[in-house]
Amino acid sequence: MNMPNEDTANTLMQRIAVLEQISESPDFLCRRFATAEHRRANDQVAEWMKAAGLTVQEDQIGNIIGRFEGIENDAPAIMMGSHLDTVVKAGKYDGMLGVLCALAAVEHFAKRGERLPFALEVVGFADEEGVRYHSTYLGSKAITGKLDVAELDRIDGEGISMRNALIQFGKDPEQLHTAKRQASDLRGFIEVHIEQGPVLERENLPVGVVTSIAGATRLAVQLHGEAGHAGTVPMHLRRDTLCAAAESICAIERICKADPELVGTVGRIDADPGASNVIPGHTTFTVDVRSPSDEKRLRAIDEIKHHILNAAASRGVEAQIEQPHAEPSIDCDADISRIMAEAVGNHCTSVQWIPSGAGHDTAAMLEMTPSGMLFVRCKGGISHHPDESIEAEDGAIAIKVLIETLQKLAQQ
Ligand SMILES: [Zn+2]
Repeated sequence: MNMPNEDTANTLMQRIAVLEQISESPDFLCRRFATAEHRRANDQVAEWMKAAGLTVQEDQIGNIIGRFEGIENDAPAIMMGSHLDTVVKAGKYDGMLGVLCALAAVEHFAKRGERLPFALEVVGFADEEGVRYHSTYLGSKAITGKLDVAELDRIDGEGISMRNALIQFGKDPEQLHTAKRQASDLRGFIEVHIEQGPVLERENLPVGVVTSIAGATRLAVQLHGEAGHAGTVPMHLRRDTLCAAAESICAIERICKADPELVGTVGRIDADPGASNVIPGHTTFTVDVRSPSDEKRLRAIDEIKHHILNAAASRGVEAQIEQPHAEPSIDCDADISRIMAEAVGNHCTSVQWIPSGAGHDTAAMLEMTPSGMLFVRCKGGISHHPDESIEAEDGAIAIKVLIETLQKLAQQ
């Protein structure tokens, strides 16, 4: 069998370099939803898709989709891909790698005129990161029909509504619902993505199979105490909110360290008035807890709330805890994952199963169609950063795994 070779790896890296150049800033990579750069990226990907012999369509949210028909026209499709938007000061692999690996896999069949019992589709989702409108998975949610039209009223940092941004992008927001696909249109979804963590590198493996996408809870904590002079208020009379926050943060670290299936982060803290000689009378901080186990996550959140309330009460501080976000964990499809693992076994000394701590389009697609995810080793586990890096050979292995997975699915 004629499997991808060095050329495939080179083409993959060249295309990634082309997309890296399409940025809103000359200094770093940033490509937000429905911008002129999103338009250029979609047009570039569409050009590659057409050259590969795919029929190309862009839906009303701005997902770019290329299709290669199966043995029979209009057969349900295996969709593959990832997102084309990026964070600010992004790396060039997050999202794009998944779109271009999918394209390379379909090119393999298209080049040979080899039709499968299902159609193949490559998708570049319009928005996964949510940088412009602070709402994630716009592209995949439009496909599953879970994108609320009320989202169109969201306003970006420059005061442009999502509705107007879509019009400027050449879309008709009134037709947004047409982006929705029927579950019967799809046989499954597969996403290749950089790992964004250190496991594969540590295990010296190029790729691994994702077991589940972690559930997450975010808390917003406000502590109200009393500001006072740092020199004149005795320690036992203070209502120091920053001390209550500090004790809470240490408790969060302790609780999440106690279980390898938990991660907990306080990524932001603000103390008011924020002067070196004033007791902080008001402190706010965020909490982000994730786990592949919903039970463990919910238990940890209960425990964390309890610790925050205690740390506050023991200082006469009032605590207010809000929960702006909670998402359950979701398992990848067992069949697709098993078949993908068999293909991984052909190229790796062992099959590494990894839960994803980060959210991905696959989480949205799982609500509609059996979906699986393949992680590719990335250097130092670094992502959302210009230093994001993979080996070309690892990308080529991901493409091989996709091709072999499709071949195995075709035999079912
Ligand atoms: Zn991503």
